[in-house]
This record gives sequence, C-alpha cells and structure tokens, in this order.
Amino acid sequence: NSFEAFSFEPVMMEVIHQLGFKKPTEIQQKVIPSITEGKSVIGQSQTGSGKTHAYLLPLMNQIDENKREVQFVITAPTRELAMQIFDEVKKIIKFADMDQKWIAKLLVGGTDKQKMIDKLKEPPQIIVGTPGRILDIVKEEALSLYSAKSFVIDEADLMLDLGFINEVDQLLVRSKTDIQLLVYSATIPQRLEHFLKKYLENPLHVKI
Ligand code: AMP
Repeated sequence: NSFEAFSFEPVMMEVIHQLGFKKPTEIQQKVIPSITEGKSVIGQSQTGSGKTHAYLLPLMNQIDENKREVQFVITAPTRELAMQIFDEVKKIIKFADMDQKWIAKLLVGGTDKQKMIDKLKEPPQIIVGTPGRILDIVKEEALSLYSAKSFVIDEADLMLDLGFINEVDQLLVRSKTDIQLLVYSATIPQRLEHFLKKYLENPLHVKI
C-alpha cells in the first residue's frame, strides 16, 4: 500500500510528496492500476474518499506535453464542483513545475463565451467543466474532443438528477468510440446503469 507501486513518473511522485499524501486511499489503490492500463472504471465512493485524485493522478501522469491537443476531459454537474476540480488540477501543475507545459482550461457557464473561445485557439491538454458549456463550445467548433483518450464523469448520479446526462451523451458522441470512461458516483441508480451499458463493455466496478 504505497504510491511507489503505481510506477508513476518522477514528476508525479514529486507532486504527491508536495501534496503531503503519504499513502493511497482505498479507492486510489483499487482504481489507479486499471486507469493507467487504459481500462474504463466505475468508482463508487463518497466525497472525502480521495476520488478526485484517484483519477487526476493517473491521468496527469500520462500527459504528453509535446502534444497540444485535448488529452482528457473532466465533467462535473455543477460549476462549483468543476471549479474545485480545476483548483486541484492547477495545484498539481504547479507542484509539477509544468506551468507552461501542461495546459488546463475551465469551461463553465456564467463566463464570457467568446473570451473562452479565443483562449482555446491553442488547445489545452486538459479540459475541466460542466457538460452544457463544453458542448456549446464543441458545437461551435472551437474545440475538438476526438483526440481525448479519457473522459471523466464526476458525481454521475447528480449529473443524472440535474438532467445533464443527455449533454454528457452528446459529448461522448463527439469523442472517439473507444475512449476510456471513468465514472464516479456515490450511487449507481438503474437509469445510470442503463446509460453506462451503452458505453462500457467490461468496466472495472469498484465499490468502497
Ligand atoms: P475527495 O474525495 O476527492 O473529495 O478528496 C477528499 C480530500 O482528501 C481532499 O482534500 C484530498 O486532497 C485528500 N486526499 C486525496 N488523496 C489523498 C491521500 N492519498 N492522502 C491524503 N489525503 C488525500
């Protein structure tokens, strides 16, 4: 039970050190190896379990800084949650000392869309946002998701409750078909399971 077991890049080990994490949490132990292998994962755990870093650490460990194209997309049901995740992403970039190399953009409503579109002229590697705003921007062709290897749906049950699953669906239609899907949710209601079956063949399902 140690971060050493994941074979992270030295820069990510430094990030973990700076974050002050001594050992992986249970959800991290169980999902990180599969995420690194490119498998799709359903992670069922509560807020506070370390679920955010359970996907951020393995995904950011695999960023190719030489490619200026979207490498992964993180969606959250609310602007506040997207902003919190974005703050964690920024912290990792800072601790990795990759400020000019790992580029992340926050795409949420309530901000000037045109300004946002202008800032996307050089594509970022990491997108964090709410599904509606990301979809808006993709539809305007200011951003393409086809290069993305991974797609995170955080708080998927809330995504369903708030009626955003359709927008997530439309984003996935505009992504490559074999995209790695990482779904985090406290509960997996039947309607969510039905949706997930459409995209996931044999996911690892981890329940804490
Ligand atoms: P989350 O479940 O993603 O909301 O995370 C809850 C809190 O746990 C956050 O403040 C994280 O920074 C922290 N955290 C995540 N992973 C670890 C870890 N391995 N060791 C200590 N704290 C952690």
